[in-house]
Amino acid sequence: MKVIVPVKRVVDSNIKPLVKSDGSGIEINGVKMSMNPFDETAVEEAVQLKEKNIVTEIIVISIGEIKCQDILRTAMAMGADRGILVTTDQAVESLSVAKILKHFVEKEKPDFVLMGKQASDDDMNATGQILAAKLGWAQGTFISKLELSEGKAKVTREIDDGQEILELTLPAVLTTDLRLNEPRYASLPNIMKARKKPLETVALTDLGIDLKNSLEIVSIKEFSSSRESIIVDSVDALLDKLKNEAKVI
Ligand code: AMP
Repeated sequence: MKVIVPVKRVVDSNIKPLVKSDGSGIEINGVKMSMNPFDETAVEEAVQLKEKNIVTEIIVISIGEIKCQDILRTAMAMGADRGILVTTDQAVESLSVAKILKHFVEKEKPDFVLMGKQASDDDMNATGQILAAKLGWAQGTFISKLELSEGKAKVTREIDDGQEILELTLPAVLTTDLRLNEPRYASLPNIMKARKKPLETVALTDLGIDLKNSLEIVSIKEFSSSRESIIVDSVDALLDKLKNEAKVI
């Protein structure tokens, strides 16, 4: 089976994102950037499926600045076979990302697309669903378990009250929950090997896809909490506070 794994370059998840002073977005100048954690999970799952000889080729795709090469190389060091970088300096909203991915799905004809359920920068949680709808494919979102067999994908989804198990007919778009696996660190020899793997770069303007942004970020505000927190030293102290101060039990 062949799989496409889209990967987005975002502010590293160990760093607290800072809102730009004019509220127009998140500050990324001089900030450490990394692969979106949900996409790392997707790459890991694809690599594990390749190790089990279920998947034969993993193609990673990123859309963004030329610097996105670094996360594509990381994905290849983890085990992806080749990368495609679609370069643009403009912010690309979910609908546009889905249109671009559709272009590559039609060209590469994978059996499935495995991607993060959301990008950790703006938490849109939309691209996978839009892509599935545009392709007319089945979708399994927020998956925490994946089993593939001939022409089918059995996925476990986390839902509010428990788990839902779905059987999908391939081709399909699957989006990952972090619980799916524990992504590996790339070893130094694999980082060296990844430098030689094919990485195709194409300018977004050369794809001839009609993209118009339909969303405008009006402002981004930092969450401010007026709640105060305390640490109590025993369960009895907690129960006492819940009963006598908060009066909730
Ligand atoms: P979102 O809908 O923006 O929260 O993103 C969901 C998933 O879409 C991400 O986990 C990525 O797999 C994919 N994605 C979103 N933006 C990009 C991008 N610029 N390049 C590659 N993949 C992306």
